[in-house]
Amino acid sequence: MLSATQKLLRVTERLRESILLLRATLARLWQATVKLKTIILSFDWLSGRLTNCVQSMAADRAARKRSRKILTVLTNVLPVPFPISLRWRPIEGFGESLVLVKKDGLRSAVIDLRADLSEAVAVETLCHEYAHLISTDYYGTSHDAVWGLAYSDVYKVVYGDH
Ligand SMILES: [Zn+2]
Repeated sequence: MLSATQKLLRVTERLRESILLLRATLARLWQATVKLKTIILSFDWLSGRLTNCVQSMAADRAARKRSRKILTVLTNVLPVPFPISLRWRPIEGFGESLVLVKKDGLRSAVIDLRADLSEAVAVETLCHEYAHLISTDYYGTSHDAVWGLAYSDVYKVVYGDH
């Protein structure tokens, strides 16, 4: 027969074991929570990046579509004596334009726009570069009065009268 004290000691011992087990379980649960939190944060980060990526692709498409349309309008309303191709490049500035002369004397022009321009800046830059192509036979590539007049005409075609 166990004495009351012995019984009490045994119960106390079991209680202590249970508490240790509970503590270990809680520690594991805590570790799992921390891991889960890290996974959720990574997922949030990833979905944020993905959303940004999709949004910027849509913005790029919109900028390119609008720029192509405006170039078509400009070449009809304010024609230049050579064909123009529009390219999207990882250049440093917003845009560049260049008139090329082939061996047979035929000319063609290229307008390069920086690949990541927003729609508004792409259109504005296209206007700037198109004015250079209009005024190329007068004073070349400077931002002089002739370029200014050409820009004014381009501006009115694209943005309307102000
Ligand atoms: Zn310029």
